[in-house]
Amino acid sequence: MAIQEIKKGIYTNVEYIPSNVTCINTGEGLILVDTPTMTEDVSQWKSFIEGQSTIGVKYIIATHHHFDHITGINSLGDKVIMQEKAFEEMLEEGGTLREVMATELPGITEKNSNFILTEPHVHPEITFSDKLTINLGNLTLELYHIPGHTKGSLCVYIVEEKVLIAGDTLTSGMPPFMGQGNITQWISTLTWMKDLDVDTIVPGHGEICSKDEINRLLEYLTSLRNLIADLIKKGSDIEGITAEAENMTTGFYTIDPAMIEETKMLLAASIPNLYSQIKEYS
Ligand SMILES: [Zn+2]
Repeated sequence: MAIQEIKKGIYTNVEYIPSNVTCINTGEGLILVDTPTMTEDVSQWKSFIEGQSTIGVKYIIATHHHFDHITGINSLGDKVIMQEKAFEEMLEEGGTLREVMATELPGITEKNSNFILTEPHVHPEITFSDKLTINLGNLTLELYHIPGHTKGSLCVYIVEEKVLIAGDTLTSGMPPFMGQGNITQWISTLTWMKDLDVDTIVPGHGEICSKDEINRLLEYLTSLRNLIADLIKKGSDIEGITAEAENMTTGFYTIDPAMIEETKMLLAASIPNLYSQIKEYS
């Protein structure tokens, strides 16, 4: 599995199970955005980092607290940046999805399962509320708090390169996990995001994409919210809504046959959360 250079000094691997990892070489040290979950992928990044810079890793930015993004942090660096709510979410019982991932990730080995279950919680050195700017080398990194997928999600906007690292606020090729998110905040976040001056986006999961994928998810979430509101009015239960949501989803995304089961599982795990939010105001 390859680490590819998507812009000058910006490297990413989008082929990992389960999520994407990015490294920015600022010329004055490296910044990692999210980390791998599997031990062999952590080893790949360790070698890559050694080959990139004698300064090493200055910061690791966690786009949010889910364990498929933060498991490798302790192995790769010690100066961690998170949005302040993500730190709180990480400490909540069960909130990281650690136990689910340790047993249900496709092809997971016992070694990796143990790695996920036993890594200690990360202690971020820096947390912020709305926005944090990092000026390092020739690059300006703007970190924005973007609630939606989780309360404490953030994105990294690399201004000079017009690159956005979106975390799980955006996925390409399949819908995201919506089991802990707030759909109304998520729609607001994507509406804001589509006005950023970017031409290359690293989503939390899936291939590198453009703003087309923001528009697609925006339309998907809006349609899903409307569908659920309509079905609640008609008296449908969660099971009925899940079946209708599955039909709608395959109309929006051409899902890789290998990912169909996972997509269905993520959707089924998302609907109860969306149902309770939408029921409240419909
Ligand atoms: Zn996530």
